[in-house]
Amino acid sequence: MTTPTLRNFVGGTFLDAAAATFEKISPVDGSLVAHVAEADRGTIDTAVKAGRAALEGRWGRFTAHERAALLRRIAGRIEERFDDLLAAEIADTGKPRDLARDLDVARAAANFRAFADIIAAEGLDSYLTEMPDGRRALNYALRKPLGVVAVIVPWNLPLLLLTWKVAPAIACGNVVIVKPSEETPSSATVLAEIMAEAGVPDGVFNLVHGFGPNSAGEFLTTHEGIDGITFTGESSTGSTIMRAAAPNVRPVSFELGGKNAALVFADTDVDRAVNGLTRSIFTNTGQVCLCTERVYIERPIFEEVAAGLAERAKALVLGNPWDAATTTGPLISLNHRKKVFSYLERAREQGGTAIAGGGIPDLGDDLAGGAWIEPTLWTGLSHDAPVMREEIFGPVAGLIPFDTEEEAVRLANDTRYGLAASVWTGDLERGHRVAGRMNVGISWVNTWFMRDLRSPFGGSGLSGIGREGGVHSLHFYTEPTNVCVNL
Ligand code: NAD
Repeated sequence: MTTPTLRNFVGGTFLDAAAATFEKISPVDGSLVAHVAEADRGTIDTAVKAGRAALEGRWGRFTAHERAALLRRIAGRIEERFDDLLAAEIADTGKPRDLARDLDVARAAANFRAFADIIAAEGLDSYLTEMPDGRRALNYALRKPLGVVAVIVPWNLPLLLLTWKVAPAIACGNVVIVKPSEETPSSATVLAEIMAEAGVPDGVFNLVHGFGPNSAGEFLTTHEGIDGITFTGESSTGSTIMRAAAPNVRPVSFELGGKNAALVFADTDVDRAVNGLTRSIFTNTGQVCLCTERVYIERPIFEEVAAGLAERAKALVLGNPWDAATTTGPLISLNHRKKVFSYLERAREQGGTAIAGGGIPDLGDDLAGGAWIEPTLWTGLSHDAPVMREEIFGPVAGLIPFDTEEEAVRLANDTRYGLAASVWTGDLERGHRVAGRMNVGISWVNTWFMRDLRSPFGGSGLSGIGREGGVHSLHFYTEPTNVCVNL
């Protein structure tokens, strides 16, 4: 089979020429997945112009109901091309087939359907104003699209995170210029085909491939024709993008990193907690921003929970993503494995004991070129150890005992991140109380990664700026114009 070349999609057309291409390498075995056309400044400029032309043309006159109908057509086409998206996502990430099927691709269609419903039901803010002297007025706020929105996303849940932003942006009448991660160009390219097939007007969805610094990411975020930036990725990249947005004073929505805690109380159902924690630590090889990397366990059940988790970690099956038995894929790249492995070395130096994993597995010759790492659990690390404070973004967690609820809350909140937490307890009052005291955007009780797409999603501190989801997305992707009419 010939290796595909993935192209940029601008103004409704896949562009044939590109100044440069780069290689996408499989994290499963190091093989070549695709050649990818890298967008230069000129390509970004053409995309901005195509977007502007769409806003000024037919797209700018679409009603909310027409946009909702378009979103439903996109969702339908995603389902028709489910297998292509699945293959693309697995080729890029190596994630197990069942995970890509049930989480990534299924959620892509769900994102478009959810925002079709939300935009169709959206009303206007309005107030009847009564002044002390008897005059009256009607105030109402019209919501207009921001305009040309830059959508920059990471590699861990490529299609899910991309559609999570594209769906509401288009629902609100914007045009988007999407830059997927250089590690995951494939599913975004299939999505561009789907956009054309679903009848999305030219210039509404544009796709540019490339890297961050001195490449498509930087060219996009510094372009003065961009009206807003929505970004998911590392906190340090968020900081760079914020500087890029500053000269033109553009709005940003940031979903960034985390160092998420789980609090396990002695009154919990241990089996349920161990099952939930296994998911929250190891799903997608720990490469979900919401994954747990710190587990605080009440002392009387510490040994039991630790033993249960170690048993579950050792039972995870690493291997070919298409094998039904595989539960756990590789990390995204050898480069990322180098980073994660350096944390394993540091954990050992800092007094940690690996009760599961701790190294690089031998999966045989076929997978020797892949970015594999063992699911790893540490005990014996102090709360202050750097490996317990910095985001690792791998299948790695440290387990630490605590004695009181107050101490657990203090430890969980003692971080510069503020994305997610989970509380495991059989005491409902405690669940509500502790979950509400977490300084995070998303707090779960006796579950993890259970999402309602209408609820606010995002984080505080180093974990981000703003919230997306439901009307929160509509608020970011629109600019209100308040109209006051004297009655
Ligand atoms: P990353 O920040 O390295 O890259 C994300 C995207 O930004 C990529 O498309 C990349 O090419 C681009 N980029 C990099 N430098 C840029 C620059 N200077 N200007 C413009 N664009 C630039 O992140 P990653 O390694 O791809 O993803 C992992 C990170 O994403 C983790 O920190 C994880 O926690 C975070 N994440 C957060 C959420 C959330 O919802 N909070 C969700 C998923 C992932």
